[in-house]
Amino acid sequence: MTNEATPLPDTTATCAFCDACCCRQEAMLFNDTEVPDQFIELGTRGEMSMARLEDGWCAALDRNTMSCTIYEIRPWICREFEMGGYECLAARAANL
Ligand code: SF4
Ligand code: SF4
Repeated sequence: MTNEATPLPDTTATCAFCDACCCRQEAMLFNDTEVPDQFIELGTRGEMSMARLEDGWCAALDRNTMSCTIYEIRPWICREFEMGGYECLAARAANL
């Protein structure tokens, strides 16, 4: 049995002071049936993900406000993304 503590989120990382770094990462779609078709990209094996623009940002991101234009129906993977968690910190570091 291991006794490893789960790392706590970094509370200094906050969306209010971040240019949506996580919205530059691949966002796979699973049963996200509400996502509008124009934002869905099909992979070679039929897998679905959020479409991304040539510069890597998600096609559903409002580039003026850097906020999600489909926030209420955003994919599950975006809902699960933990602010201040490991992947959030990695995304922020990659966008420095
Ligand atoms: S979840 Fe993290 S990477 Fe995404 S916008 Fe918020 S602070 Fe930035
Ligand atoms: S769907 Fe919204 S929250 Fe998810 S990556 Fe795109 S812009 Fe960001």
